[in-house]
Amino acid sequence: MRTGLLLLLLTAVLPGQSPLALLTDFERPASERAVVAMHEEVARIMGPLGWQPEWHALEEAPSTLPLFVILSFKGVCRVQTGFSQDPDSLTLASTEVSGTHVLPFSSVECNKVRSLLPGLRWDRESETVLGRALGRVIVHELYHFLLQTRKHAAKGIANAFQTSRELTAAEFRFDELSSFKLRDSAVPRPIILEH
Ligand SMILES: [Zn+2]
Repeated sequence: MRTGLLLLLLTAVLPGQSPLALLTDFERPASERAVVAMHEEVARIMGPLGWQPEWHALEEAPSTLPLFVILSFKGVCRVQTGFSQDPDSLTLASTEVSGTHVLPFSSVECNKVRSLLPGLRWDRESETVLGRALGRVIVHELYHFLLQTRKHAAKGIANAFQTSRELTAAEFRFDELSSFKLRDSAVPRPIILEH
């Protein structure tokens, strides 16, 4: 009993952060500035929920990893003009599923994300805006994986639809219930040694 109590207390005193490895695989070279902004945005949203993202290029990933998700980036992940849009589909990203399991394999459609950001120009600020939007799209996919759900929330990042305004706003967060579930999923469970 005493051991169990001690473990519970440790959990309460040291909530810590659960590491989450994000392994990136870019189809084409991405904007460095956009990648930095993307990292910052994912950390800004996931950090307060108890998740500590650590980034690795897929080909350089260490052999020992914590919980991980592989992120494949399709298209051009940098600001440029003259790209073609696909009017039939605006799926910004997707995550593989198998039966009831959400698998740690997500694809991010950079061209589609850029097509939702009409104000992008050839400047540094636009690369940051693009990176922030990519971060928000990634966090949506992490929500599906971490909570093992295909469901969506009525608003916020876990909503099925994200608008240009939401992707470019200064702040964009999860709704309260999704935040609670994500925070709960990051809490290490105490190990019960005695009954
Ligand atoms: Zn979704």
